[in-house]
Amino acid sequence: MTNINILNLSKIELEALLSSIGEQKFRASQILNWIYQKNTLDFDLMLNLPEHLRTKLKENYNLILPQIYKTNISKQDNSYKFLLKTQDNNLIESILMLEKDRTTLCVSCMIGCPLKCKFCASGNELKFKRNLNSSEIIGQFIEIQNFIIKNNLSKKITNIVFMGMGEPLLNLENIEKTLEILTSPDILGLSKSRITVSTAGIIKGLSNFINKWGVKLAVSLHFPTEEQRSEFMPINKINLLSNLIIELKKINLNKRDYITIEYLMLKNINDSLDHAKKLVNLLSTLKVKINLIPYNPVSVFPELPSSEQQINLFANYLKSKNIFVSVRRSKGQESQGACGQFALKE
Ligand code: SAH
Repeated sequence: MTNINILNLSKIELEALLSSIGEQKFRASQILNWIYQKNTLDFDLMLNLPEHLRTKLKENYNLILPQIYKTNISKQDNSYKFLLKTQDNNLIESILMLEKDRTTLCVSCMIGCPLKCKFCASGNELKFKRNLNSSEIIGQFIEIQNFIIKNNLSKKITNIVFMGMGEPLLNLENIEKTLEILTSPDILGLSKSRITVSTAGIIKGLSNFINKWGVKLAVSLHFPTEEQRSEFMPINKINLLSNLIIELKKINLNKRDYITIEYLMLKNINDSLDHAKKLVNLLSTLKVKINLIPYNPVSVFPELPSSEQQINLFANYLKSKNIFVSVRRSKGQESQGACGQFALKE
C-alpha cells in the first residue's frame, strides 16, 4: 500500500487524489477543514465523510507530523522553544513568541543548514541532513497550535516567520506548499502581510517567489561589503551582494511595504560608523527597514556582541539618513532559541 501523507499535498493534489479513488473533489475541502479548522488528525472523527471514505483514508493514507519532544519556556520574554521529532527521528526546532498584539511562530525548513554562516550555530554545530517536506513544516504549525489550545495560551498563531533552522530559498517547493495552506482563504486564511520569509541572500528565484506570494521578505545582510560578507557568509561568493541588490530591486512593494534588512551587530567587526555609511550607500535605491540584531554568542564563533552604546550610535546614524531602524531584543534567549542558537540543544 502506498500510504501517502495527506499533509504533503496541496489542495489541488488532494482533489486529484480523491478523484483517482472515485471520490468527489469537494471532500478535499472537508478534509482540510477538519485538519486545519477543527484541529482533527483522526480520520475516524471526520464525521461528514461517508464511512467507506473514512475507512479508505485510514487504510491507505496518513496524517503524520513531527511530535513535540521537548518544550522550554522562557518566562522573561514569553517565548517557548520546542524541539520536535520527525518520523525518522530527526530533531527540529520551532519558537513560539507570545506578544500583546500577536502570536508569532518561527518555523524551521531544514534539518541543519548547508550555508555555514560563521556566526550561526545551526550551520556549524549540526550537519545538514535534508530539507523538511511540507508536512513537517506545516506540521510545526499544527502541533504547536494544538499545544496552545491544550494549554490555554492564547487563541491563535497570527504570524509566521521562516527564520528557524535552514534556508527557505533552497527549499522552495515545500515552502510554497506550506504557503498555500497558510494563505488560502478556505484553509488557514492567514494574511500575507503576517508571513515573513528570511533568506541569507540566495538570488536565484528570489524576486519571482516574493512577487508571486506577496509575503514579506527579510534579508540577512549583516555585512555591507563583498569582502567582509564573503568572509563570514560563504554563500556571498556565489551570490554577490551587488547582484543581490539588483535582484531586490525587482521586488514589487506596496506603498507601505519595505524589505527588512537584518544586520547582526558584532563588536569591532561590522559596527563602526564607516560600516553604517557603507550600508546606507548600498541600500540607497531600496525601500528598507533595518533591523539591528545584537549578536547572540554561540560557541563556534567567539566574538562579542556590540555594546548598547555602539548599537545606539549606529542606529542613530541610520535614522539621521531617514532610514527606519529597529533594534531587536532577541526573543528566546533564555530558552536558547534566539537567532542563530538553533542547534538542537536538549
Ligand atoms: N537562512 C535564513 C533563515 C534563518 S533566519 C537566513 O539566513 O535569513 C535566522 C537569522 O538569525 C538570520 O538572520 C541569521 O543570520 C541570524 N543569526 C544567525 N546566527 C546568529 C547569532 N549568533 N546571533 C544573532 N543572530 C543570528
